Amino acid sequence: MMLGSVVVGIGIAGSVRIRDLLAPLPSSAAEKFSIKGFVSRRTLEDQQGVKQISMTEALNRDDIHAAFICTENTNHEEHIRQFLEAGKHVCVEYPMTLSYTSAVDLWNLAQQKGLVLHEEHIELFTPDFKQLKKDIAGKTLEEGTLHFTGGPLKPNFGFPSFSGIARLTWLVDLFGELTVTAASLVEEKENKYMKMTAHLLTRQQKPLTWIEERGPGLGRAKHIHLRFQDTNITELPAGQREPVGLFMQDLVLFGRKLQGEVSAAELQEERSRILHCLQLADRIQQLSEHTQA
Ligand code: NAD
Repeated sequence: MMLGSVVVGIGIAGSVRIRDLLAPLPSSAAEKFSIKGFVSRRTLEDQQGVKQISMTEALNRDDIHAAFICTENTNHEEHIRQFLEAGKHVCVEYPMTLSYTSAVDLWNLAQQKGLVLHEEHIELFTPDFKQLKKDIAGKTLEEGTLHFTGGPLKPNFGFPSFSGIARLTWLVDLFGELTVTAASLVEEKENKYMKMTAHLLTRQQKPLTWIEERGPGLGRAKHIHLRFQDTNITELPAGQREPVGLFMQDLVLFGRKLQGEVSAAELQEERSRILHCLQLADRIQQLSEHTQA
């Protein structure tokens, strides 16, 4: 059976989703999707030949089975809820929500309804990350820093520990469950500048520092400094470029979940990681706001 799909929010991510749904990777689970339309708050012309439909239509049509939520982060929660309530599977761009408790609620709702709730994490598919993960396998961490820099964030993307959840996901995927020991936020609104610093500990009590720094003129980059027992890694390795795009890899994964091709154990592990990251993000926000006050 084909899975009728709708894309909600036509920004960078939404446009890539439409592109990928129109030309899915051959012989992959992504071929099971068939795009039926897109939803936007604006009135738009056809996008890549796909027609705009209303939210009501998207929620009510029997031939629509899955929604791709690609709006700003502040809107994700409401959209996910609406589509799950309407009996549709959901693929949402990270971060799923801007609080841990709402994510738990939504996950419970999906489970009750027997629906797939999938959070995109393209950062785990990047060649750099895959190579880094291979390079550190078997090494014992002593301490580390992940410092992300980038341009100012658009409005409605939430607190930096949520908008930057991709970096936190890297740390958790590489080093396991973490705890937050301290966090702070420096913000100069008039200069569109912000710097969040979070101090974390691994289960082996090794310190990790995560910094999100954004401002005009800051290039998009990740700076790493990882000290292991026998070696240091101070640069991201350049991984092997892959022919399949990052969002397409994610689409295949969502398709495989819908076809029951992902094991319960894998699903459980992924869900634990996602919820753990959102819980850490929540804690970082709380501690930062406390420090600021
Ligand atoms: P975006 O700013 O391009 O779009 C965000 C929202 O703004 C969309 O709902 C879009 O409809 C709306 N929008 C865009 N242009 C508009 C305009 N001119 N007028 C009115 N509304 C407009 O952001 P994005 O990069 O597509 O991010 C969307 C989601 O995807 C976010 O949750 C983000 O965290 C996630 N995400 C994006 C990427 C990426 O590479 N862009 C990667 C991973 C996750």
